[in-house]
This record gives sequence, C-alpha cells and structure tokens, in this order.
Amino acid sequence: MKTFCIDAGHGLHTAGKRCLKSIDPNETREWSLNSRIASKLQQLLEGYDCTTLRMDDPTGETDVALSERVSKANRAGADAYLSIHHNAGVNGGDGGGIVVFCSRTASDASRKLQKAVYEATVARTGLKGNRAAPLAEQDLYVLRKTDLPAVLGEFGFMDSAVDTPVILTEEYADQVALGLRDALVSSFGLEEETMTDEQFDKMMESWLKRQEAKEADQWAEPLIARAKELGLTDGSSPKGLATRQEVIAMSLSAAEK
Ligand SMILES: [Zn+2]
Repeated sequence: MKTFCIDAGHGLHTAGKRCLKSIDPNETREWSLNSRIASKLQQLLEGYDCTTLRMDDPTGETDVALSERVSKANRAGADAYLSIHHNAGVNGGDGGGIVVFCSRTASDASRKLQKAVYEATVARTGLKGNRAAPLAEQDLYVLRKTDLPAVLGEFGFMDSAVDTPVILTEEYADQVALGLRDALVSSFGLEEETMTDEQFDKMMESWLKRQEAKEADQWAEPLIARAKELGLTDGSSPKGLATRQEVIAMSLSAAEK
C-alpha cells in the first residue's frame, strides 16, 4: 500500500503569505488555499488503495517547521512527498500560471512525478500561465531534505490579476485536487478500492441487525397493536425489512381474516 505525504505549505498566520489586497480584499491566506486543495486531495484518495499523511497542522494554527515536516515524511517511509503552495511575484500584473518544482539533484521518480503533476493540473484547470520554465528546478528545503520522490507545486499566483480570481474559487481547488489525484494514480498505478461481495454481505447484515433493533415510530404503534390483535404479526422488529414472500403471506392472511 502506497503512502503519500500531503503538505499544505505554511500556516494560517504565516506573515506575508496571502493574496494581494488590491485583487482580493479579504487577503486570503496562502495556507487556506493550500489546505483546501490538500484536504480535497486526501478525500479523493480515500477511494484508492493508498494512505495519506498530512505534514502541516490541518487546523493551520501552527506553521510546522520544515525540518519537522521532512523528518516526519522520512520516518514514515512514504512513497512520495507533495507540497502544495501558491505563488507570488508578479505584483498585480497579468502573468502567472502553475509552476512545479523538483530539486536540482532530483531522482528520476521525482522528475517523472513533477511532469505528471504539472501536466495533470494544467489539463484539469487550464491555468497554463506564462512562465518560461513551469517545470522548474530549485533546491527547496522539503525537496532537498526528503529521501523520497518529492515535488512542490505552486498552483497559481496570489498577486496576479489573471490567476487570483481563479485560484480563490472552490471549483479551481476541486480541479487541482483532481489533477493531483490523476498524477498520483498514473505515477503509482493506484487502483480504485472496490468492495468484495463478501464485504458487502457483511455490511448489509450488520445494517439489517441495527434496523431490526429499532423501535417503531409513534404513529405506527396503534397500527402494530391492531395487526397483532388480528394475528398478522407478532410485532417484533417493526423496522426490519420484509421480503416479497413475507409481504404476500401477510397480505393473504389479512385478506382471509
Ligand atoms: Zn508558499
């Protein structure tokens, strides 16, 4: 079973990391945008044969130190590290787009994942932007210090007149999460989890048992009492399910009274 480290960059209160006020009057914090995508991705991956670990504080209160994030990932013996960020640096201009980093000394697996993440998220969001090198190399701490395939994605600019209104939307976050899911599925051959017949039967049996243990609703009580008088039922498990053959037997016995 594969394990993925999902890292929403920074914390809610990290200084400076927010959208440009002239474009977004709420100055939405970068961590909020990062975390929204991270949570959506974790939810999507619940349907696959893998597990996810969060590297940041999911409440956003603490900006977990990068050294802590990295050592947690290395200790976990995980299969990939995915750091989610949003960019800045165009100062209210029109430029922007998605940029995905790996370190200068990245393994082939990291480079393969970098390409997959870039291509899948651009395909899903259409936020291609105008960066000269959207597949970038930089020795960022979490890329350099992790001993597993690692990439860091900057999913649009928080100070771009083009990107910012887009990256604030729920729809955009959904599409980035889907793109990241696509990239992990294709890079690691993840399979969707399906339930076996045996598992389904077990689940249904326990659901039926719970149903049968329930009391009748108040409105049904006098009806059940009357049906007991007529000998149509012994009144047990009023919320249990009846099969067609049981319904036929009850109808006939009522008709013949
Ligand atoms: Zn960031």
